Amino acid sequence: MDEMYKALREYFGFNSFRPGQEELIRAALNGRDVLGVMPTGSGKSVCYQLPALLKEGVALVVSPLISLMADQVRALLQMGVPAAYLNSSLTEGQMKKALGYAREGKYKIIYVAPERLLVPGFLSFAKACPLSLVAVDEAHCVSQWGQDFRPSYLDIPAFLHELPTRPPLCAFTATATERVRGDIRRLLGLSDPVERVTGFDRPNLFYEVLTPKVKEVELLSLVQAQKGESGIVYCATRRSVEEVCDLLCANGIAASRYHAGLDAKERASAQEDFLFDRCQVMVATNAFGMGIDKSNVRFVIHFNMPKDMESYYQEAGRGGRDGEPCRCTLLYSPKDVQLGRFLIDKSASAEGLDEEARRLKRRGDLERLARMEAYCRETGCLRRFILRYFGEEGPKGGCDNCGNCVLPETRSDIGPDARQILSLIEDSGERYGEALLSSVLRAEHSRRARDLGLMEHPSAGTLARLSPLELRERFDHLLSLGYIARIGEEYPILALTDKGREFLRREGPLYVRLRRAEEAPPTPKKTRPAGPGDPELYEILRELRAQIARIQGVPAFVVFSDATLRDMSARKPRSEEEMLQVSGVGLKKQARYGKRFLQAIEEYLDNQDR
Ligand code: ZN
Repeated sequence: MDEMYKALREYFGFNSFRPGQEELIRAALNGRDVLGVMPTGSGKSVCYQLPALLKEGVALVVSPLISLMADQVRALLQMGVPAAYLNSSLTEGQMKKALGYAREGKYKIIYVAPERLLVPGFLSFAKACPLSLVAVDEAHCVSQWGQDFRPSYLDIPAFLHELPTRPPLCAFTATATERVRGDIRRLLGLSDPVERVTGFDRPNLFYEVLTPKVKEVELLSLVQAQKGESGIVYCATRRSVEEVCDLLCANGIAASRYHAGLDAKERASAQEDFLFDRCQVMVATNAFGMGIDKSNVRFVIHFNMPKDMESYYQEAGRGGRDGEPCRCTLLYSPKDVQLGRFLIDKSASAEGLDEEARRLKRRGDLERLARMEAYCRETGCLRRFILRYFGEEGPKGGCDNCGNCVLPETRSDIGPDARQILSLIEDSGERYGEALLSSVLRAEHSRRARDLGLMEHPSAGTLARLSPLELRERFDHLLSLGYIARIGEEYPILALTDKGREFLRREGPLYVRLRRAEEAPPTPKKTRPAGPGDPELYEILRELRAQIARIQGVPAFVVFSDATLRDMSARKPRSEEEMLQVSGVGLKKQARYGKRFLQAIEEYLDNQDR
């Protein structure tokens, strides 16, 4: 199987496989069916592209996203792999021509929309040509329990049935619960597949949650700190997309916007501007991102809390797909929870569901929203929180690369404050929510607190020295440590857990690390760069890459990724041979661009010698 490594080196420019890849590729080469559950950015496409290159015949890749097909084919052509796509964006004439070439065996890989599989013209081509394999991307679309059910995915088994010999079937998805995985096996008809679930950890993403007083100020300083780097800002509503985009533009930042209220042409041109680095920041609703394959996104900021962890993981995961660091910041405000509830109620009434279905959906939505809020208020490792949410263990201690793990080591004793909070909750019968309890502790003298007699409690007013934010943080710690729990979805109340009761009965301090909102947000560590690199040379290489990309009309990262340029700036190759050692430089790209980059490096080194 040496040829596997050879092809990886020559076409993709890598020396080693990422977790899970090798087993799946080997299985596909041996004619087995495979099922890969791999998060975005973990190198899913290599798992079917590489076997497609090595096997006889043409590989079909079923993909639901038209824009993604175009990007993938563009990237394959750059690597020297003959590829094409067949979907509704082609004219009748273009389609005929492409099928003609395909019949002549001119392509190794063809991307096809699921709707096309049973169209007679396509089917007769597929029956007549030797197929190396059929890969199904976004395989969860076959399941009604998945997030994006596509009925046309159910045509896939019928299509396979029509073929004279059944090629190996390779299914891939980025997120799937056990139930959805079962549907994929059953509905696609996978036969004894080799399965790999690779971890959900994305070590190069720095996760953080900030609770700024004024989000706009925080946002500007975050974007300005990432000068010239590509980033996405997600907002909850169209209106806030417009406002945030205006704010950035007014401050001299090249921003563009994307939401479902714009017409298709505006959306397409905004997307292109972002892809080709003509705009630095994309401000968007969650409508943006499906099918975006831009690898050099260096920051993803959520201006509002998303509706659930699945959305957050997916949206933040659009950053750092080249493996280079990306800063994922969530700007949280308690108001986001109210907005989230409002949006849930609005969406429940908009869909044509019956009473019972609506009630169940709303309950599920509220539950997921509550978990999302818990993430925002987590005081422990954020990475661990995410991984546990998706059913993995996560790092035992901290991860050293999230907003909570990189807080200064200084610990403060919140034991006395915690006891005031816990005893108020216990004595008042564990039936009130956080807002009311806070108002009592801070002696805000609300009418409701007075009417309920809560102001008579010995704890009333004992934490008046704390700001609302500081008091909130005490609650966050007690929630994260499991001393108190929130019960109920609609109007959650706080109750003590056994752990909390036990703490209340004994003496002793409670040391925690406080975020102290007044301080500057922590700086993410630059984790796992391909090498330290030479920043000056790196900028020169980036400039050269931009020129080439402009002339060729392709996005810059298609020429070389940021990670490749960084490695190049560290290694400073002086010959073609040395250039091929750079991670991400394969034979084709070496032939196409090697000379120009070698020349730039030589000039740079000569200038330094002088
Ligand atoms: Zn952490």
